[in-house]
Amino acid sequence: MVQKNLIDGEWIAGSEAFRNINPSDTNDVVGEYARASAEDARAAIAAAKAAFPAWSRSGILERHAILRKTADEILARKDELGKLLSREEGKTLAEGIGETVRAGQIFDFFAGECLRLAGEVLPSARPNIGVEITREPVGVVGIITPWNFPIAIPAWKIAPALCYGNTVVFKPAELVPGSSWAIVDILHRAGLPKGVLNLVMGKGSVVGQAMLDSPDIHAITFTGSTGTGKRVALASVEHNRKYQLEMGGKNPFVVLDDADLNVSVEAAVNSAFFSTGQRCTASSRLIVTEGIHDRFVAAMGERMKGLVIDDALKAGTQIGPVVDESQLNQDTDYIAIGRQEGAKLAFGGELLKRATPGFYLQPALFTEATNAMRISREEIFGPVASVIRVKDYDEALTVANDTPFGLSSGIATTSLKHATHFKRNAEAGMVMVNLPTAGVDFHVPFGGRKGSSHGSREQGRYAAEFYTTVKTAYTLA
Ligand code: ADP
Repeated sequence: MVQKNLIDGEWIAGSEAFRNINPSDTNDVVGEYARASAEDARAAIAAAKAAFPAWSRSGILERHAILRKTADEILARKDELGKLLSREEGKTLAEGIGETVRAGQIFDFFAGECLRLAGEVLPSARPNIGVEITREPVGVVGIITPWNFPIAIPAWKIAPALCYGNTVVFKPAELVPGSSWAIVDILHRAGLPKGVLNLVMGKGSVVGQAMLDSPDIHAITFTGSTGTGKRVALASVEHNRKYQLEMGGKNPFVVLDDADLNVSVEAAVNSAFFSTGQRCTASSRLIVTEGIHDRFVAAMGERMKGLVIDDALKAGTQIGPVVDESQLNQDTDYIAIGRQEGAKLAFGGELLKRATPGFYLQPALFTEATNAMRISREEIFGPVASVIRVKDYDEALTVANDTPFGLSSGIATTSLKHATHFKRNAEAGMVMVNLPTAGVDFHVPFGGRKGSSHGSREQGRYAAEFYTTVKTAYTLA
């Protein structure tokens, strides 16, 4: 059975379909999904536009009930949806279930936010005049998502969009349509009026591009590559539309001489390799001061030997496969580039054979890397990390900030002075002390600086900045 697109409240098959393949076992077809055309995308945009006036004035209890019901169903089905996610994306079952729970928590959070829409009332600078400041929805929001968080990223964009009264055209990544289809189905059954949420699965160059080109999309929120992010930005400037971008990272994790070795190694292994290194918050630059360098590298090698890389759904697997062949090629290309550049491949980097055909790669650790090498500057998006040796904290901070990106930044230290200084001076949207660079909560802001992000923050109460527009009203008493 082909899972269809949702346009104006109807499930539409379209003329083409595509297959969703399990990266742990390429013989396993997770499902077939209708491929939307540019025409379908335009119909979805028209439906969202038509649905906007009524939805933007809908009661807060109606919105609350729909988001709450969605949260409840996602949480009740966490094992089944988590399994679907792991099967289509390749992260481990524990990670898949964890991400699904997070999606449920996000819908729950924004169900609550519907009940807390507030404004401000101020006296005017002029006598007998009152000023009210309120937030209104932006209009039709376009949502374009990547493959690496198939349920959490759609959730953290769709939930606030609906909460604040916007209508939505949602285009998930082609590699992972299953989780997106599931949450749209849940929201639809939870009682969303027709046209409020439209799902158009398909190619970025066709469906995504049709969204970028439409004057009827008032805001676009995008997570994905830097190159596509630029296209979103340019098209949005053309239409004078609001846009929000979450793109790459080259996140540093600093390890100082005074760090606890176990804490550093656990945080570094998690940051660099969990979720197969396919997180924009992953750390691929391990910046280590010389007093702890050799002990850290030796302990990393030991820890990496024990990692279990296998089928994402198998009990005991700690790291699943790479998402697809093209990403695997990108990872192995960068491993070759690192060697050519003169870094030493200290551990891993080989392709692995498992019981089923899949994209299995032994996580790779380079040592003797410099921050000028391509492996230290360009986002690889795989389980590949390099150790950069530095003299002291000051050099570590300089190297950490010497990158075009600025999403997340971490440090392992027992020094309050260095931890405090790093929190203040790391040029990143998120800073972690004695914790992995990845692994963020659902109720607080997420986002970065420099080449990593554009626009206001996602998640938590800060999401209101993007999904609403402010009105200032003056009344003569
Ligand atoms: P990744 O390397 O993570 O696949 P992409 O930026 O290619 O990053 O993909 C992120 C999302 O952007 C996907 O949903 C993809 O289909 C979409 N996309 C790709 N090209 C375009 C485009 N020209 N216009 C709009 N969306 C696009």
